[in-house]
Amino acid sequence: MISDLIGQQALKVFPEMVAFRRDLHRNPEISYKEFRTTERIIAELAALGYEIHRPLQTGCVAVLRGDAGGKGVLALRADIDALPMDEEGEHKQEFISQVPGAAHCCGHDLHTANLLGTAHILASLKAYVAGTVVLVFQPGEEKPPGGARLLMETGLLQKLGVQAIYGLHAYPYAGVGEIALIKGPMMARPDEFELTVHGKGGHAAIPQKTVDPVVIAAQIVTVLQSIVSRNVNPLDAAVVTVGKIAGGSVCNVIPDEVAMLGTIRSFSQALSTQISARIEGMARGIAEAAGATISYRYISGYPAVVNTDWAVDALKQTADGIPGVSVVTLPEPLMAGEDFSFYLQEFPGAYFYLGTGSNEAESNSWNWHHPRFNVDEKAMLTGMSVLAELVLKTKATPHPPIDDV
Ligand SMILES: [Zn+2]
Ligand SMILES: [Zn+2]
Repeated sequence: MISDLIGQQALKVFPEMVAFRRDLHRNPEISYKEFRTTERIIAELAALGYEIHRPLQTGCVAVLRGDAGGKGVLALRADIDALPMDEEGEHKQEFISQVPGAAHCCGHDLHTANLLGTAHILASLKAYVAGTVVLVFQPGEEKPPGGARLLMETGLLQKLGVQAIYGLHAYPYAGVGEIALIKGPMMARPDEFELTVHGKGGHAAIPQKTVDPVVIAAQIVTVLQSIVSRNVNPLDAAVVTVGKIAGGSVCNVIPDEVAMLGTIRSFSQALSTQISARIEGMARGIAEAAGATISYRYISGYPAVVNTDWAVDALKQTADGIPGVSVVTLPEPLMAGEDFSFYLQEFPGAYFYLGTGSNEAESNSWNWHHPRFNVDEKAMLTGMSVLAELVLKTKATPHPPIDDV
């Protein structure tokens, strides 16, 4: 019966949430600058009777205490920031970004509207909500240090007594009605490095008087490819990618230096540190052999996203019971990163992908962060139902199975 009520409420609030998502899409705000977005979210939540906390400059945390008793405290999280990029796509004509250099090309506008829709459903079914629900509208997912980290450092979620947390991400590789997740490690650590080769520039036709950093950098990029194949345990997942290389400006000048930026992906800090040491060591050796020097910096990113087994089971059981929703177990983790990991370092919980691809429109299958990225908004019907069911079916008393306690 409660499932029917949730379904009805989701359908009722859906058109309003589509409009809300499109409004955010037209007016995107980049990480830590989500001022208008925050005001819009708060206006809706306050009207619904939520208790609002503003621990950071942007974003908010909303609390609903259910009328059905119970001591559980369950948190649900949406990230609200846009990317610093320009958008493309006539398929989004009605609601394409009106802000140069800002675009919702990661689907956080959908996450926000989806959680707000869930807030509507839970408020309308407050009589059935046992325990407390904490809705986290988090800023700055796209930019280190990560809004999740900053929020955890304020201690608010700990003070509210959060016992478990769930979050989701728009997923263009699955269709509407599907959710996908995996137990244990689900997303990698995204660490970064900056590497500059300092040589000695000069005339391109008199190379013997120079130390050419272009040739040295080319050797370094090639040799770095052997780290994953020769230094990392073949049973551990890792990636080393040089994503940017910049040096020189014209054809007949050897520049003084070449700068590179790269990313290291893995599932542990220890492995990431080991890879970083190899990058630095190899680069230094090659540069010194050629008479150049390097400067090197390792930038630690978000931890890996590691799901709690019992929370994945709870989510699967909940979603499996909803008509039209199917749960897919991912065959393997993804090497992309996500700051939801900061919550999972302290609370049990699970992160899952919400299918937003669609057969109707090819436009919904563009990759994350692509300027043409879009979502099938009907995914919100699944997303809102899964989150609301999670709260109402578990009576907001998230607890591990008895033998896990
Ligand atoms: Zn993103
Ligand atoms: Zn994202």
